[in-house]
Amino acid sequence: MTKHYDYIAIGGGSGGISSINRAASYGKKCAIIEAEQLGGTCVNLGCVPKKVMWYGAQVAEAIHKYAPDYGFDIDVKGFDFQKLVHSRQQYIENIHRAYDNNLAKNGVEVIKGFAKFVDSNTVEVNGEHITADHILIATGGHPIRPDIKGGEHGIDSDGFFALNQLPKRVAIVGAGYIAVEIAGLLNGLGAEVHLYVRQHSPLRSFDHSIVETLLIEMEQEGIQLHTNTTLTEVRKNDDESLTLCTKDGSLDTVDCLIWAIGRAPSTDNINLQVTGVETTDTGKIKVDKFQNTNVDGIYAVGDIIEGSIDLTPVAIAAGRRLSERLFNNKHDEHLVYDLIPTVIFTHPPIGTIGMSEIEAVNEYGKDNIKCYTSTFTPMYSAVTQHRQKCMMKLICLGDEEKVIGLHGIGFGVDEMIQGFAVAIKMGATKADFDNTVAIHPTGSEEFVTMR
Ligand code: FAD
Ligand code: NDP
Repeated sequence: MTKHYDYIAIGGGSGGISSINRAASYGKKCAIIEAEQLGGTCVNLGCVPKKVMWYGAQVAEAIHKYAPDYGFDIDVKGFDFQKLVHSRQQYIENIHRAYDNNLAKNGVEVIKGFAKFVDSNTVEVNGEHITADHILIATGGHPIRPDIKGGEHGIDSDGFFALNQLPKRVAIVGAGYIAVEIAGLLNGLGAEVHLYVRQHSPLRSFDHSIVETLLIEMEQEGIQLHTNTTLTEVRKNDDESLTLCTKDGSLDTVDCLIWAIGRAPSTDNINLQVTGVETTDTGKIKVDKFQNTNVDGIYAVGDIIEGSIDLTPVAIAAGRRLSERLFNNKHDEHLVYDLIPTVIFTHPPIGTIGMSEIEAVNEYGKDNIKCYTSTFTPMYSAVTQHRQKCMMKLICLGDEEKVIGLHGIGFGVDEMIQGFAVAIKMGATKADFDNTVAIHPTGSEEFVTMR
């Protein structure tokens, strides 16, 4: 017998869960279909486990680099990587329980299985047909690997979260968020880390001043950056180590290789062609500003959409707004995809909102852009031998100096920028920043005292 719902979500990650819960809260008959584990990439293979590992590295840094100058004479007996992984997974189990409870409380049916379209309002899961008036595609993405000889000897970010021991020597290939985050946390936990980027720098689309500071700090922390380097082959040796061959002929040997070269949308196996939903050449789903696909009653949110900003709060915000529009009569409700704040959990962390200096100059011309910067050593590390820089930058537009970009790297920046994002979204100017009394002594006061 075919089951019928008002609304179903394919994919129980950030976008699917948020949208379905919101719809169910308006009394709609809803189901969510998840092939793996509820919570999707963020909870199981992304933000959450990554942040726990990042905190682990922060603790290591505090013990080894800062505690002595704060007067602590610590005798560290060891580091149990498996214990850290165990604590992390227990925390994730708690999140799973919270999701189960919340979905049950809202009356959402959870269907475990892989969904495929049968037609534009029917999907098949575990051999059963399900129909719905409205169908959300929120199937996210998965890591990609390069097509080189021996590439299979490396792991990807999913494989990184499956590690149960800390690799001694590790190579990370890639230049985005994932590459720099994994490099930073493995280095902090005590591995010898080599980061291979195929161009001159990682994070090329971010503000150059921030990236320059990151590179200085990476070097100080001991990460070995190999720029303009492309791997051509990976060979597995008898002792399980891996030899990496590069384009220029040089060879390096490591215990573990992690590919972090990007992600692909998970649309290829869902039989999307029977619906007529339009995709890009890479399989991303085309949507309008309301998350509508070109087919009535089929929507998409999150990493799966064309031009996506692959962040959990973006998927959540789009998913909730979609349900507000469909089921709560808010006919114009949609997510405005600009000035979205983001943090990269490097060591130290990076926070960024809006345009980089180069983007702003290209868009508005050099004469219309004024940048303010501040570089200092935060008190936390300034009282120790292990001094770590903080760099902050404001990008301002025109005579009124509207703040169109805010960037920072340094201790605590990850927790500083959310409030500034509110101000910038409201159109704050440099004068508004100046008129705000600083909080002392903090790092964030620099953002309101720049000259
Ligand atoms: P997903 O969360 O990927 O969920 C999709 C779900 O659909 C999956 O559970 C999948 O199993 C399921 N699925 C797929 N196909 C089917 C099918 N046919 N039938 C049933 N189920 C299916 N973002 C941040 O904001 N902050 C961070 O710190 C951060 N760190 C990250 C670290 C890493 C290593 C990675 C990989 C990502 C990180 N992200 C971070 C990005 C964030 O995880 C994603 O943007 C977010 O999870 C996207 O949500 P989504 O709902 O689009 O897809
Ligand atoms: P990205 O697409 O952001 O970065 C991958 C980069 O790797 C590319 O930009 C490219 O940089 C480089 N690259 C691509 N192909 C190759 C190759 N064959 N060899 C070597 N380098 C290559 O992907 P990520 O996987 O890092 O992250 C995906 C998304 O997940 C991010 O964009 C982000 O939105 C989200 N995320 C968010 C986090 C957060 O919020 N803290 C953390 C982690 C992920 P170049 O062209 O410069 O070589």
